[in-house]
Order: sequence, then structure tokens, then C-alpha cells
Amino acid sequence: MANILLASLLALVAPVRCSGCGRTDSALCGHCGELLLAEPVRELPGFVIGGKSIPVVSAGIYASARRQVMLDFKNGGQRRLGRTLVVAVSRTLRSRPIQQNADILVAPVPSSLRGGWNRGYSPSLLLAREIARALPNARASSIVVPRLRFQGAMRSRFTPRSRATRLQRSRTGFSVRARPRVTDVIVVDDVAVTGATVRAVCGALVSAGFCPRLVVVAADVPDR
Ligand SMILES: [Zn+2]
Repeated sequence: MANILLASLLALVAPVRCSGCGRTDSALCGHCGELLLAEPVRELPGFVIGGKSIPVVSAGIYASARRQVMLDFKNGGQRRLGRTLVVAVSRTLRSRPIQQNADILVAPVPSSLRGGWNRGYSPSLLLAREIARALPNARASSIVVPRLRFQGAMRSRFTPRSRATRLQRSRTGFSVRARPRVTDVIVVDDVAVTGATVRAVCGALVSAGFCPRLVVVAADVPDR
């Protein structure tokens, strides 16, 4: 909350500068806006969970203007930049083999608890809302939550579980707080580095009876 207030106050006294290139006068200049829009959507290596393959698409590489805009979006309180980051990728969704007439949940990868408290908003939820807007019958919902570590500790003390179950739980690190009435899910994250997090979230969704159809990330850090 304090961060948001500070950002608003700074916007009043400091000159507005483009998040992409730092030039003054607009929050995102036309040049940087066009760069982000023109960046080709990339297919990243997908993964297989429970025999089903889940494709992963990235709106662009986490570098130059996209990186700067992402930083302002995530850490500078510039919530409106989320739309620019995913507008091009969301346009490609209608041509994908997702059941267009079925209801779809768009689930953001949850922020760490500390990150969420500091920011006062969830960047991945804002991105998920933009993605949902691009599809008919889609809505964004934060159905995946990080597992609290002490929860696991409490539970294991009182209810003995098999070693396999314990491993599975500790590996995912996420739980799902909804029943699968709508089963098709698009998972959305801001920046993917190794893909381990989106994979864990998809795993948690499958365990809870959902069917992840696609992962969309607003930026990815390519393997070196
Ligand atoms: Zn610019």
C-alpha cells in the first residue's frame, strides 16, 4: 500500500518517462510500444503431465524494452503496462486448439506471499485478466495458492502420509483452492526462467482434477 502511494506521489512531482527507453513525456513511448507489439510470440518447450502435453508460449524475451517495462509493471506500480506486455500474445489465442466454446479459467501463478504484500497487487493476476479478456467464456481466477510451509509441517505431524505423497506435495509447493466445475485452465506467469514454477502449478492443477491446456508467459529468459 505504501509503495502504491509513493509511486502515485512520485508521478505527480517527477517527469513521466517511458518505461521502455527512459525518454520523458509518456509512460510508454510509441516506439517501445510498437517494439513490444511486434515481438513474435514464441513456442517454448512444453511439458507432459499425466500423459497430456501442455504447450508453453512466451510473449517475448526478457530483455531490452520488455525487461524494462516488466520491471516497472512489477516493481514500479505501473499496472497499466500489463496490457502492453501480453496484448500480442492474447491475439494469437483464438487460433489455438483450445475449446473455444468451453468455459476456461485463466489462473495466474501466485506471487510469493512477501512479494504480494510489498506490492499490494498481483502482476500475474493482472496479466491473467488481460488474457481472459481475449477469449470468449474465459475468466481469470486465482485458484492456485502457494502452500504455506507450516501447514505441511502441522499436517505431517498429525496425519501420517506415505513417503510418495510427501514427496509429491513438497515438490509442487502449490495447492488449488477450487473444485473443478470448469476444468480447462490457461496458466499465466509474468517471467519464466526455468519453467519449473509453471510446471509445478500445472502439476498441482492436474492433481486437483483440472486440465491445464496452455501456459502463457509475458516474458522468458532463454537458456544460455
Ligand atoms: Zn520508449
